[in-house]
Amino acid sequence: LTPLSPGSTIGILGGGQLGRMLAIAAAQLGLRCHVYCPDASSPAFEVAAKYTVAPYENTAALDAFAKDCDVVTCEFENVPAATLARVSTQCVVRPSAHSFAICQDRRAEKELAVKLGIDSAAWRDVPTLAELDTALGELAVPSILKSRHLGYDGKGQARLDSMSSTSRAWAAIGNAPSILEALVPFAREVSVIAVRDAGGNFAAYDVTENIHKGGILHTSRVPASIAAETAQSAVDIALRIGNALGHVGVFAVEMFVIEEGGAERLLVNEIAPRVHNTGHWTIEGCVASQFEAHIRAVAGWPLPDTARIADAEMTNLIGADAEAWAAIAAEPGAALHLYGKTEARSGRKMGHVTRLRMYSKPV
Ligand code: AMP
Repeated sequence: LTPLSPGSTIGILGGGQLGRMLAIAAAQLGLRCHVYCPDASSPAFEVAAKYTVAPYENTAALDAFAKDCDVVTCEFENVPAATLARVSTQCVVRPSAHSFAICQDRRAEKELAVKLGIDSAAWRDVPTLAELDTALGELAVPSILKSRHLGYDGKGQARLDSMSSTSRAWAAIGNAPSILEALVPFAREVSVIAVRDAGGNFAAYDVTENIHKGGILHTSRVPASIAAETAQSAVDIALRIGNALGHVGVFAVEMFVIEEGGAERLLVNEIAPRVHNTGHWTIEGCVASQFEAHIRAVAGWPLPDTARIADAEMTNLIGADAEAWAAIAAEPGAALHLYGKTEARSGRKMGHVTRLRMYSKPV
């Protein structure tokens, strides 16, 4: 495996803020990015060496893109399978289509966890509305109906209790194949941002504690207030998942921490085959960020040092939150990131701010 030389081109499918931060990290290493996205106002375009605006179904545009790149990666998990298959015939794609096939499908993620003996919330497969009543009878209420595909930031989810109408919940998630999941009375939510290279080398960042509001990430904090053994188990779970996927690049594993009789237990919630919002603090909080880690892994470079150098708290700037940019920019110690989005729709991630404190050891 020869590392790509500086000056090589990394293709990125998807042009959102994750692509933007990947392109910035690549530029730092002397690598160029070619971003492919159907949206003409993609945040990643303005920081990339090259970009293509075309639908994911445009085979001629995909072929030209693949020809221009030395390796291709993705910044979102819902890249259509046919797009990945087409690009894969002409260029190395990292991570491979397998990681996406699993992480695009909540049922496949659950089945992987079962296969690996990793705990997750109790669940039932719900292929049609008819099966929902049976599943609801078997799982304790309240529970959450989640569409198998295309769910993110709490979208494609409906909460059910004993009074809920199943047909209404089924309609709310889009009448699509789903899973029903028991509601977890978690004490906290954490995630592991990890990176794996093509040779199977693995590194992880310190476990992050996350607070969601309305299904959208609000704050991430390190160190997480969990026991050292729990943190070690979380990293071990990520390692096993990364190996099972044969993943190349950064990935994130979101987990619930439940407290049982004074002990902490982890339940895997979701796997993201990409850089992740809960890892944005690594830009200032670590020797090398998750974005650099991903670029290095897909370019065949040595994995970076993932050591944390400070305590950190990252807050998303969602919708109108970004209007406070001038005050944040004036705040000592605050690292402001704005994604260049012109339209501040409600619920839209417009930027984030990371605040560092003196390093403290994980609890
Ligand atoms: P997800 O899209 O599955 O990551 O869900 C978004 C957020 O909804 C999670 O981060 C949790 O805060 C909440 N959530 C999802 N599933 C469950 C569950 N089974 N029990 C409790 N909260 C959940």
